[in-house]
Amino acid sequence: NPFFVGLDAGGSTTLLLAECEECPGRIDRHGPAANPQRVGMDQSVQVLSALVKKTLRAQRPVDHLSVCAGVAGAGRPDEQQALADRLRRTLGDDARSVSVEVVHDACIALDAAFGAESGLVVIAGTGSVVLARTRGGTARRVGGWGHLLGDPGSGYAVGQAGLRAVAEALDGGADTILRPRVAEEYGVDERAALIHWVYQDRPPLQDVAPLVIEASADGDTVATDILTAQVNELVRQVEWLLGETDDVAPRIALLGGMLQNEHYAAALRRALADRVPDWSVEVLRHEPVVGALRRARRLDE
Ligand code: BGC
Repeated sequence: NPFFVGLDAGGSTTLLLAECEECPGRIDRHGPAANPQRVGMDQSVQVLSALVKKTLRAQRPVDHLSVCAGVAGAGRPDEQQALADRLRRTLGDDARSVSVEVVHDACIALDAAFGAESGLVVIAGTGSVVLARTRGGTARRVGGWGHLLGDPGSGYAVGQAGLRAVAEALDGGADTILRPRVAEEYGVDERAALIHWVYQDRPPLQDVAPLVIEASADGDTVATDILTAQVNELVRQVEWLLGETDDVAPRIALLGGMLQNEHYAAALRRALADRVPDWSVEVLRHEPVVGALRRARRLDE
């Protein structure tokens, strides 16, 4: 009874999609963040293996287990190898034989969007990244620097910019509807409370992004300026990558949590239509975890 598992490990959530010859349908599950740059390597392994173990519990005995994980923050081959080795060891007791592959999350996104073919993907989730595959099969990446160094257009960057705008407004800068809305949502209506909340409670700043998008949709100019700047920087990365890379099929797939929001998706589409008008743009219909499951199926071929 071979068992196939795809994982999409992100900065806020991890998705699992599994199937086996004898299972009636696909199994899906979700768990917490597993980006090793954010939660550490140990926690990343723990989240991924716990999700797989839970899924297998009802399916024993499993002869062969094939796992492919697309992991945000795991862009380097040595990190991918280390994660794969640790997962293989932890899952060793759960099946007679185990194959594990760990790749970057943008890689499973490309697979989910275009199979083995050429195209470009933009992920705007908790973090952001741009990855293209040429017709010759070479992958080229821009961005994906993580929350401290970049990730324009991501939930984290938009949320953080929103809170900075609130701080500025409290210091006499341009007022924004974000100020009362953040106060109401999180109970932080003045300097000391805001500082304590951000630095002591350390909320996930990406959670603030929907407030910024909503404020912009409601006509708040500060929020609209934030979105415009973030989206423009993300599209600049796309433009630069396309200028540097020949021979990419002219299609762009957009994915990630931020694209679930119509207002944000429309802003990104508009900026792309403006700056790379000859490229088709689609919000991805299949989730990247589908790309991971497909890779897991091919692992032992
Ligand atoms: C991470 C990248 C990841 C991107 C999208 C960024 O924060 O550094 O590795 O691809 O988010 O998930």
